[in-house]
Amino acid sequence: MPPAESDVPGYESATTVRVAGRVLPAAALRTYPERYAHLLAAARAEVGHAECLCRPGRPLRLVIRRRVGRLHLAGWPNDGHNHAPSCLWYRADPELSGRAGYERDGAIDNTNDGIRLRLAVPLTTRTDPADRTPAHLHALGEQAVSQRGLGLLGLVHFLWEPELAVHSSITRRRWRDCQPALVDQVAQCSTKGFPLPEVLHVIPPYRKERPDETAGNRAAWQAFLRQLDTVGPVRRHALVLGELRDIVPARFSMRVQFAHLPDAAYASPELIERVQNSYRVAFTDEHSRNSGRRIALCVISRSPKGYLRVDDMAVMPTNFAYIPVDSSYELTMADALISAGRVFIKPLRYDPDLMATLPDFVLIDTDPPTYVEVWGVLGREDYEQRKAEKRDYYRKSGHALLEWDVRRPMPDVHRTD
Ligand SMILES: [Zn+2]
Repeated sequence: MPPAESDVPGYESATTVRVAGRVLPAAALRTYPERYAHLLAAARAEVGHAECLCRPGRPLRLVIRRRVGRLHLAGWPNDGHNHAPSCLWYRADPELSGRAGYERDGAIDNTNDGIRLRLAVPLTTRTDPADRTPAHLHALGEQAVSQRGLGLLGLVHFLWEPELAVHSSITRRRWRDCQPALVDQVAQCSTKGFPLPEVLHVIPPYRKERPDETAGNRAAWQAFLRQLDTVGPVRRHALVLGELRDIVPARFSMRVQFAHLPDAAYASPELIERVQNSYRVAFTDEHSRNSGRRIALCVISRSPKGYLRVDDMAVMPTNFAYIPVDSSYELTMADALISAGRVFIKPLRYDPDLMATLPDFVLIDTDPPTYVEVWGVLGREDYEQRKAEKRDYYRKSGHALLEWDVRRPMPDVHRTD
């Protein structure tokens, strides 16, 4: 029996695909890949790819990739922006992302068997009782001698970008909608020869009405934590991605609490201070007042006494609908775009220091796309200069620009045609 529409994640998209001559709904293939294994195997053997039919008369190639012993469909590298904005495989133009630099130097390596990531964070460190250096400093030391890897914020952006940096639906997006998209992206990746799901846990949504699911999630979480047991002088680390609920002082440390997870982790006050300074926007009162959310990717390990310890952390602020934002004005703009029913993407930097010219948002329901700039930092000479450069660049590249100078009321952001 075909599944009910509401059971299929991403069903808002009516994308169809052609696999070995058969035309099928993409969402069904994605949710139940095992039912279509024979078709995927035939297409892989015969032509090597499948086709997405989201653009009439212009089929776009899809990769047929093997993952955890199973074939599934994925977007062709750097081709996502050619799909229709409502398509499951629509992705931001590589020009509008910090990803390209990491692909060029091999930290993100797209292969036929999945995406290989070179991470800047080591997943093992040596423990020496006489050594009081915090684990994240060891990590920095190791990074200095190796090639550039994807940092924690870069990894959050990489996982977020395919589906969650795009806003295409006016329905309220909840964690239960984000988590499957993140799991899907994690499942396509490996790092240092390990499947990424073995070292990165995306916290599943807690649903009171589903006790069996909760028990299953609990067992999976405990199995994930068992790998952190220290063996000899080697301390093992893992990554946890979820929505941050709170960071509060505990007896000797700071208690880090995630949404949807009963267990807390503990961090040193020094680490929390550093995190709050590095990701300031996420921790302002204004961000909380405006229903902003905070997404955290933590490097965790077990303390000798068995506590869950946070060794490092990146925090990405988002609006209520999980669209990443870089300031409270951007949050206001993202909310307004959603209210106006706009389809848009949030370009992600990956590297906070990236100097490329990325607009704050891009409206993709106009052709060509419209760039959105929120001019927020006012009166500072370097910012004014940067603003003039960006405007000049947009004018020369022929992009329509929707601007909001925050000293004035926000312009009407509805579509005008
Ligand atoms: Zn498509």
